Amino acid sequence: ERGCIREDLVNATLRGTVRYPHLFIGGEWVAPEGGGMLDSIDPATGRPWASVAYGGRRDIDKAVAAARAALDGPWGRMPGHERAALLYRLADIYQKRAPELTLLEARDSGRALRETRGDIGAHANWYRWFASLADKIWGRTIPMDDSVHIYTSRLPVGVVGAITPWNAPMLTTSWKLGPALATGCTVVLKPAEQTPVTALELAKMIEEAGFPPGVVNVVPGYGKDGAGEHLVAHPDVDKIAFTGEGATAKAILKTGADTLKRFSFELGGKAPHIIFGDADVEQALNAATSSAWAVCGQSCALGSRVLVERPVYDRVVEVFAERAAKVRVGMPLDEATHMGPQSSDEQLRKTLSYVDLGQAEGAQLVTGGRRITSGALADGYFVQPTVFAGVSNQMRIAREEIFGPVASLIPFDGEEEAVAIANDTAYGLTAGLWSRDLGRAHRVAAKIRAGIVWVNTYRYIRWTTPYGGFKASGWGRENGVEALDSYLETRTTVVSTTGQFP
Ligand code: NAD
Repeated sequence: ERGCIREDLVNATLRGTVRYPHLFIGGEWVAPEGGGMLDSIDPATGRPWASVAYGGRRDIDKAVAAARAALDGPWGRMPGHERAALLYRLADIYQKRAPELTLLEARDSGRALRETRGDIGAHANWYRWFASLADKIWGRTIPMDDSVHIYTSRLPVGVVGAITPWNAPMLTTSWKLGPALATGCTVVLKPAEQTPVTALELAKMIEEAGFPPGVVNVVPGYGKDGAGEHLVAHPDVDKIAFTGEGATAKAILKTGADTLKRFSFELGGKAPHIIFGDADVEQALNAATSSAWAVCGQSCALGSRVLVERPVYDRVVEVFAERAAKVRVGMPLDEATHMGPQSSDEQLRKTLSYVDLGQAEGAQLVTGGRRITSGALADGYFVQPTVFAGVSNQMRIAREEIFGPVASLIPFDGEEEAVAIANDTAYGLTAGLWSRDLGRAHRVAAKIRAGIVWVNTYRYIRWTTPYGGFKASGWGRENGVEALDSYLETRTTVVSTTGQFP
């Protein structure tokens, strides 16, 4: 990896002998008190490759106390421009170490190196964007009459519990840490048990950047009955920022209900990717095929429901089949690999069960659908890129999030039907549409109930673009200026100018 600065770590990563015996709490590296060590499984081989400390209730208690103390200490009094300086420093360190993080995340999550590099290589922009906002967090004055002076102030919500998933560990972390630190919150980060390694590397960067102790604490651990659940239940945590499954979000809401803390949720998707007959079909196909198999299908943003206008439907099916056959499925660390394995045995089994279900429901399996059981990939969680044609939107493969490389091609006739099918889903995270008719593009985009609609492009996500879901896809927005909202409380101050009551 060009640009790596720690050869020892790179070598250890390649050998699969990485060990992280400590949690990061209150600015110190400490052994777990309530947890132990967990094995992180390499999804490309099915074997453990890293041994990582995980926390339990007592560790979460310590981390929350450290986060509270930091909030009540110098961090809580630090002006925005100084928080910004720390975030800029973190961005520089992150950028320098992106090649290492890329390697670690590819190994830990199984995502192909070439894809992971593009993702992680961009995250410093998120830290810089939030740094640029840290000294612009202000309220307003509210004119009423001469008898009062009214103004609002925006204050950090407090201690944030950040809980992240395994499919994009560093992306989902950056999206939370940036706004939390810009607004002056403190954080206890609980990465997914399947992919805990990069969060601990990030803790080293936080340390190197010079954030005061306790501002960011990292405690890997399990979800249910583990560090995740303790964090959610903790009465001194003010907000949970969560990315993961809808079912987990519901469990989190129940656990956290007694404390009435705040929640932001980034959940699943079942995005419609609409190709009208008047589109530049070649461009649409490039976007639709690449987004069907990116991250081995394990992303909430992918266009897993491809809605195709009937005159171009057969052509789209044909090209999907051709391109599925050309996807290079392989070891994540191989530069030639397009698509790595599914991240876990559980996810592999889930994907295969949906392939069976799709066939049982009457969809036509055009290509793929099998586990790869031969050669070097036999022990890993590899599955073929899969295409279903003749899919109806009522089928479960079109309604439920599979999280595997499975594209469902659904035919439609005309604009009205496209919109009806697009919106006939419990989700509302992302959507795409392709048309050369400008009026139609705006008309359809305006009718789609989703947090982001891409027109003649797909998966365009930047630090400036608000991202989040309608309906069952989540609460709140990450990225953009809007991301700050869920990390802030508003206080209104009303001052009488006369001293008279009333
Ligand atoms: P998950 O819900 O199983 O786990 C996510 C995190 O929650 C993990 O850290 C886990 O340990 C923790 N957790 C599990 N049970 C918990 C509990 N009872 N209390 C507290 N914490 C608990 O999700 P996953 O399978 O890791 O991730 C895949 C899901 O994430 C998909 O549904 C995907 O669409 C979604 N996702 C959404 C976005 C987005 O931005 N909307 C981005 C990426 C992934």
